Amino acid sequence: MSVTAPSPSGLSFVEGEIVRACRDARRERSSVTLVAVSKTFDAPAIAPVIAAGQRVFGENRVQEAKAKWPDLMVAHPGLKLHLIGPLQSNKAKEAVALFDAIHSVDRPSICEALAKEIVKQDRRPELFVQINTGEEPQKAGIAPSDTDDFIARCRETYGLTISGLMCIPPLDDAPAPHFALTAKIAKRNGLTQLSMGMSADFATAIEFGATHVRVGSAIFGKR
Ligand SMILES: *Cc1c(COP(=O)(O)O)cnc(C)c1O
Repeated sequence: MSVTAPSPSGLSFVEGEIVRACRDARRERSSVTLVAVSKTFDAPAIAPVIAAGQRVFGENRVQEAKAKWPDLMVAHPGLKLHLIGPLQSNKAKEAVALFDAIHSVDRPSICEALAKEIVKQDRRPELFVQINTGEEPQKAGIAPSDTDDFIARCRETYGLTISGLMCIPPLDDAPAPHFALTAKIAKRNGLTQLSMGMSADFATAIEFGATHVRVGSAIFGKR
């Protein structure tokens, strides 16, 4: 883990860019949630960002989040934690217990495990289905052409409430068409939430309707 404490200047830069992107898109600032991605950064590095007012954080590994967030959450009531990375069925119990949102729902076995834990723990994290908009073989997510069926299955077979869609555009592509496709699939499935946009492209994502931007390095510095 990195031990360099960032100054909160990254956060204020990102906040300013979000405000500007919202103004350009004629959207309310409150329609976009900034998820500050703190993966690989330790608690002393995260503390200044909490002190600067940030309340929603993202982690991509259940084990890493479990190691650092419970203490921070006790010290700072009201923090929200989002899982943005891949989830394995055998971690569903811990994920439902710890996270307020899960952005990486992408296969029936995960749906089944989440449905069971949601009932058992009576906790309802907000759920996003991850789409592999670039159809990259190495990347997680549902293929765009399978997404309608998968969402229906989440709802009908597993009784899950799906809030929205998440995508990670291919590194070498212009992100805009991927954001547009994600927004289109969400709309035809009656989903209002869009988790898209990272440090390099969150302003573009806001233009295309992102409700959650997942920003790491622009806030915390290089990993
Ligand atoms: C790491 C990560 C981010 C943040 O990436 P940055 O480029 O550092 O902003 C966003 N989403 C996911 C799924 C990630 O794993």
